[in-house]
Amino acid sequence: MKIALIAHDHKKDDMVALATAFAPLLRQHTLVGTGTTGRRLQAEAGLPVECLLSGPLGGDLQIGARLAMGEVNLVIFLRDPMTAQPHEPDINALVRACDVHNVPCATNVASARILLQHLAATGSRA
Ligand code: PGA
Repeated sequence: MKIALIAHDHKKDDMVALATAFAPLLRQHTLVGTGTTGRRLQAEAGLPVECLLSGPLGGDLQIGARLAMGEVNLVIFLRDPMTAQPHEPDINALVRACDVHNVPCATNVASARILLQHLAATGSRA
């Protein structure tokens, strides 16, 4: 499974905690992330994450493009619903791409936990 990990600034601590809790599972998969999120996961959760561009510089679009090519199978995208983002169109494009291609996309910690627990139990995304 190829898993994309993205978190807005106010959600990055939550992402690190989530990824740390699920680190043994996540290590069994191929991980890709937006730049800042990915580097924090490397440094703080010890996970081998391929880091793309930072989200505001096009990282969300890079993940969306990979997803459209069948190269991303599951997305954890911890969005900050309380803060306006300069790259809102990119965020919407990524979430839309998930819906177009029927790729599971968790946008909060509770749903991310359910997805990852399911993955751990079954080895598949759905
Ligand atoms: P970042 O990008 O991980 O580079 O901060 C995330 C985003 O803002 O979409």
